[in-house]
Amino acid sequence: MPRIYVYLRNLFFRVAIISLVSLISFAVLFCFIPNFKNETKASVKNAKIPIFMYHGLVHNNKKIENKFFIDDELFRKDIKFLKHNGYNSVGVNDLINFVHNDVPLPEKSIMVMFDDGYLNNFLYAFPIIKEENFKAVFSPIGKCVEDYSEIKDRNPYYAHANWNDIREMSNSGLVEIQNHSYNMHSIGKRKGCKKMRFESDDEYKKKFKSDVLKFQSVFQDNLGKTPEAFVYPFGATCHESENILKELGFKATFSCEGKINTITSGDPDSLYRLGRIIRPNKIESEKYFKKYLKNEDILDSRSLSKLSYEYAHLCASKKT
Ligand SMILES: [Zn+2]
Repeated sequence: MPRIYVYLRNLFFRVAIISLVSLISFAVLFCFIPNFKNETKASVKNAKIPIFMYHGLVHNNKKIENKFFIDDELFRKDIKFLKHNGYNSVGVNDLINFVHNDVPLPEKSIMVMFDDGYLNNFLYAFPIIKEENFKAVFSPIGKCVEDYSEIKDRNPYYAHANWNDIREMSNSGLVEIQNHSYNMHSIGKRKGCKKMRFESDDEYKKKFKSDVLKFQSVFQDNLGKTPEAFVYPFGATCHESENILKELGFKATFSCEGKINTITSGDPDSLYRLGRIIRPNKIESEKYFKKYLKNEDILDSRSLSKLSYEYAHLCASKKT
């Protein structure tokens, strides 16, 4: 047999064996070591999430003082604008599933949130959400829900939703309810849930933890489940509050910083202190969303923080 033939045959067998061993190694790596697969995918998976923050709605252009209450028809136009422009509504649960379980988010994901749990959210926003099949996140103040479950005042311009309203919205599958504190939604010596200047770590932890857990407990009693996210009153956060919420098992927190968020699959920290953009009244849907969606990261942060500040003052003066 010619030497060249023997050489080529041996070379062929060597290459075949090396290929087979490589193939088996890759198969083992991808099929039997799931972490390797997830980490590889997670390292390149980011999602941009714009979150728009509403408070209350009025009906028939009713004139009221609160500049963060908008007409319900304007809210309907907002939802229609977002849908017509290809945006898909998601809830906190979708963000958690993306980050913790690598479940993909829809293209152009967007989140709509309502803070403070006003009755008008139930009366005017919830029917539009159902008609448009649009997801939203509502964050009531625990004590207000409890109080308005007792006093039966149903004035849509200042009353808060009761447990029956909250339960009905939660059962719809379109509305998620999250924790907005039990009774720390005020500005006095303390701004919202933020640690006070001369308060000890232990004192603060005791106070904040007991408030958060009180909300979780009454929520469990009335709805048979507990929220997984905390929405800071007035967006007032601090290092200590974040650590306490993480320790209590909260998977996401929301501030009022006016920015579009980037969250990362496999990075649980990317779900904390998410920014939100306030929706004021008197701005048409197209103008409002084009301003804040077009340039993505380049937001007018000065005007947004001014709006947050005005809102904080408004709440403080009404002691809601
Ligand atoms: Zn609030």
